[in-house]
Amino acid sequence: MTKELKQYINGQWVESSDPKKLNIINPATQEVIARAAKATKEETEETIKIAKRTFESGVWSDRSPQERAAVLVQIADKLQENIDELTELEVQNNGKTRREARSDAEEAANTFRYYAGLLNIPNDQAYEASEDMQTLIVKEPIGVAGLIVPWNFPLLMSVWKIAPALAAGNSILLKPAEITPMTAVKVFELIDESDLPKGVANLLMGSGSVVGQTIAESDDVDVVSFTGSTGVGRHIMQAATGNMKKVSLELGGKSPNIIFDDADLETAVDYSLFGIFMGSGQVCSSGSRILVQEGIYDEFVEKYVEKAKGIRVGPGNDKQSQMGAIVSEKHFESILEYIRIGKEEGANLAQGGNRIKKDGLEKGFFIEPTVFTHVTSDMRIVREEIFGPVVTIQKFKNEEEAIKIANDTVFGLAGAVFSTDQNKALRVIKKVRAGITWVNAYHLTNIQAPWGGYKQSGIGRSLGTYGLGEYQETKQININLSPKPIHWFE
Ligand code: NAD
Repeated sequence: MTKELKQYINGQWVESSDPKKLNIINPATQEVIARAAKATKEETEETIKIAKRTFESGVWSDRSPQERAAVLVQIADKLQENIDELTELEVQNNGKTRREARSDAEEAANTFRYYAGLLNIPNDQAYEASEDMQTLIVKEPIGVAGLIVPWNFPLLMSVWKIAPALAAGNSILLKPAEITPMTAVKVFELIDESDLPKGVANLLMGSGSVVGQTIAESDDVDVVSFTGSTGVGRHIMQAATGNMKKVSLELGGKSPNIIFDDADLETAVDYSLFGIFMGSGQVCSSGSRILVQEGIYDEFVEKYVEKAKGIRVGPGNDKQSQMGAIVSEKHFESILEYIRIGKEEGANLAQGGNRIKKDGLEKGFFIEPTVFTHVTSDMRIVREEIFGPVVTIQKFKNEEEAIKIANDTVFGLAGAVFSTDQNKALRVIKKVRAGITWVNAYHLTNIQAPWGGYKQSGIGRSLGTYGLGEYQETKQININLSPKPIHWFE
């Protein structure tokens, strides 16, 4: 039976006043798996007011860090108990493989647990500014946090925002991407079972131009945290100027993955496949530009193409599948269009490039792992974020040229270097203008470390202590220990 997804406002599951529903599709089969409510502008404004009232009432914002931590642990436990269901929902709604979805679900539970733990470590400071003055630096919640998430990690991106925003004591309104609300709804079902006071956490589904835009513009939202494309991020920044709300942006990337002649070839090939084909390339930090030194270029390409050809593409719920479906027809068409552009630009299509229709995959949005070689920095497939299973392999001569090509982009999200010379690897990675980087690895990261980009890949950081800071104000309290007049005007 098709599931009906309602909105969660003030602790109640409610329908939208707009009778039109959004059909939620399984991209591996094109089946309609759910129908989601579609919030109106008025409902969004009303929900923001509820969040504001709840924040001002102090039911959550005034609770001690330890009390808040206890609720976060409850939610972490509930996520943990529901990992199988969360995995299944993510596979169905997003198209990713079970292995990928399960790892996201585990990280979601761990993220709540991590922020609960962080609340038990004081992060305020006190010092003597002078003989008579004691200064305290304290952290406080900001107010109402508007959280807008994309479709590529529907569960994880929601939790990366909900957990620190609640930990800090804010009231929240989450908007998942129109096409992938299923795991967000499940998270709110679990939040509903916890001791979080009603009205602190709210969920609205609907379009970016209505719900997202209203959140970004609202004078009653104090911080907007957005993960998505650079284009929409720019729009959010402009919309947020009315009340000068704090803006936190995690945006797109076109990340370089640099392989030197002295790299361990097997390791470099292996991680470089993982770097782009994990999540079917629909990952912001994907290593979509592989740069290989000229001495091993041909050998690297030969090995890489052979392995890319062997990746088994199929529905996420099939144990054999190593790479899943593309999330939607619209995005699928956009990736195929980039492949067409690459061919037209004169890049060499060394592998893939086609829709996969065989073996029962006819109805799904499946694309072959695609590799372009002999590309140049001016090509659109090298400059623009394709956000699919498409990688370019470019040749460089020396260290200096590798750094120059790596940084020749408006983005600055991620990057990697492969070399057995640790000094060189460190020298080069320090020159790569990006926020998330690796030496002899790709994609492996942890929730303790700040996540975010340089340049047009964003503003601010998720995760770690930095992630909590995105949802906090910092106040100085100066305490006069010897109160007496200072006679300034005498
Ligand atoms: P998107 O920008 O199209 O949409 C993201 C969210 O913004 C959705 O919920 C959407 O409904 C909403 N939105 C759309 N228009 C809006 C508007 N005018 N005002 C407010 N909200 C609006 O992105 P997407 O296609 O869902 O996701 C893919 C993009 O996300 C890629 O560019 C990817 O690199 C990026 N991403 C970045 C990170 C990161 O950590 N840096 C992580 C995941 C994804």
